[in-house]
Amino acid sequence: MEVLNFVDGEFQKTAQVLENVAPGTGEVFGTIPRSGSKEVEKAMAAAKRAFPVWSNSSAVERAACLDRLADAVREHASVLAKHEAQDNGKPISLAAQVDIPRAEKNLRFYASGIQHFASKSHAMEGEAINYTLRKPLGVVACISPWNLPLYLFTWKVAPALAAGNCVVAKPSELTPVTAYLLSTWVRQAGFPDGVFNILHGLGPEVGEALVNHPDIAAVSFTGGTLTGARIASQVAPKFKKMSLELGGKNPAIIFDDADLEEALRMTLRSSFANQGQICLCGSRILIQRSVYDTFKLSLVAKASKMVAGDPLHPDTKLGAVVSEAHMQKIMSYIELAKDEGGQVLCGGHRLHPEGVEGGFYVAPTIIEGLGPQCRTNQEEIFGPVVTLQPFDTEEEALKLANDTAYGLAATLWTTNLKRAHRVAAGIESGMVWVNTWLLRDLRTPFGGVKDSGLGREGGFEALEFFTESQNICIKL
Ligand code: NDP
Repeated sequence: MEVLNFVDGEFQKTAQVLENVAPGTGEVFGTIPRSGSKEVEKAMAAAKRAFPVWSNSSAVERAACLDRLADAVREHASVLAKHEAQDNGKPISLAAQVDIPRAEKNLRFYASGIQHFASKSHAMEGEAINYTLRKPLGVVACISPWNLPLYLFTWKVAPALAAGNCVVAKPSELTPVTAYLLSTWVRQAGFPDGVFNILHGLGPEVGEALVNHPDIAAVSFTGGTLTGARIASQVAPKFKKMSLELGGKNPAIIFDDADLEEALRMTLRSSFANQGQICLCGSRILIQRSVYDTFKLSLVAKASKMVAGDPLHPDTKLGAVVSEAHMQKIMSYIELAKDEGGQVLCGGHRLHPEGVEGGFYVAPTIIEGLGPQCRTNQEEIFGPVVTLQPFDTEEEALKLANDTAYGLAATLWTTNLKRAHRVAAGIESGMVWVNTWLLRDLRTPFGGVKDSGLGREGGFEALEFFTESQNICIKL
C-alpha cells in the first residue's frame, strides 16, 4: 500500500519515501511519505486558513463530523483491523476486538463530550458576574506512537477537533496505515479542507519540524520518555501548551489474600497482551513471599504455553513485536538481565513460527532473581518481558512499587478492602487498578506522574487541554 499525506483535503506525495515493513513477515509491503519542514509549512498554512471557520462552527456541527468519521470506522472495521495487524504485528483478533472499536468510541465519545462541555460562571452577589469562555487554541500538533496506532491517534485528534482546533497530526512512521485510511474518509465526514491534516514520516524529521513550528499552539504527544523530554525542551521556552503521555515500568502487586486464580489470569494478560507493548502493561510483578512459588510456577506454566503466530490468522493470540530494531532492543535487555544475575524462567529467545519465519517474534519471558535497582527493573523494555520479585510486608511492596523514575499505572490484587485503599493511595502513579487491569472509563483522567508524563487526557481533561480559558467579569 502507498500511504500518502493528507493536507488541505488532498492527498500528497513527497519527493522521498520510506519502506513500510510488516513485522509479522519481515517483508516490505508498502511505502510512506518522508515528509519534512516543507510539508509541515503547507499543512500549517492550510490549518491556519481553516481555523477561523472551524473555530466558529457550532459544537453540534463539529460533533456531526466526528460522528460521521466514526461511522466510516465502523463500516470499514474489518479492513482496518486487518491493516492494523499487518502494520503493527498485533493479532488481528486484538485489533478487531480492541483497537478499532476503541478508535470508533474515541470519536463518538468526544462528539458527545463537546456537547456537554459547559463553561463556568461565578457570581459576585450584587456586584458582578464572571463567566469563563473556553476557546480553541488554534493549530495543534498531535503525535502518536506505534503500539496502539489508530486507538491512540483518535484519542488525541478527537478532542482536539471537537474543541474547535485545526490539527496537524503525525502517526508513528512504523504504523501509518490506519491513520492514512482514516484520512480517506475525512472529506466525506464533512470536515472543511485544512481542518484535519495528517503528515507521515520520521519523528526526528517531520515530527521535530512540526513541534518547532512557530504557529503551533499546543503539542499533544504520546511516546517514549526520552522523546518527550526532547519535545518539552523545545516547546517549554515558547510557552506553548503541552501534554506528554510517556513510558512506564508498571508494578503488579499480588498479595497472598488475593483471588489468585483471577490474579493469574489477568497478570498473564497485563504482561503479554499486544506482546507487552502497551504502556499500561505490568512489567514488574511483585508477589507476597507466602504465595511466591505457587504463583510463579503457574504463571511460568501458562506463559510457556503461549504460541506465537501470524498476526493475520484469526486464532493467533501472540503476534510479532513492531520492528526488527525493537526486537533487538528487547533481546538486548534479556541479555542484560542475565548479565545482572537474573534467571530466565521461560522464554528469553526469538521465535520463528511456521509460515512466518522471517517475522519479529519474541517468546514470553519471565525473569527472577534481580534486585530492584538493576537496569532490568528500572528501564522500560516495552516487550513480552516481565520480572518477578518477592516481598514480605505491605510497606515493602509499596517501596518496591514506587522505586522507579516512572509512575504511569499500577495493578493491585487483594481481597482486603482497607489494604486496597491504603496501598492504592500510596502508589506513586497516575492510575491504579484494583483486582482488574485495563478497565477503562473514558471519562476518567488518564496519564502519569514522575517520568511518565505531564498532564492528563480523557474526559473533560482533554477538552480543557485543547482550549484556553478566558474569564469575563461584568459589573452589575
Ligand atoms: P517514540 O517516542 O519513539 O515516538 C512517538 C512518536 O513521536 C512517533 O510518532 C515518533 O515518530 C515521534 N517522534 C520521535 N522523535 C520525535 C521528535 N524528535 N520530535 C517529534 N516527534 C518525534 O515512542 P514509540 O513510538 O517508540 O512508542 C513507544 C513509547 O510510547 C513507549 O515508551 C511507551 O511507554 C509510550 N507510550 C505511552 C503511553 C501513555 O499513554 N503514557 C501510551 C502508549 C505508549 P516515528 O515513530 O515516526 O519516529
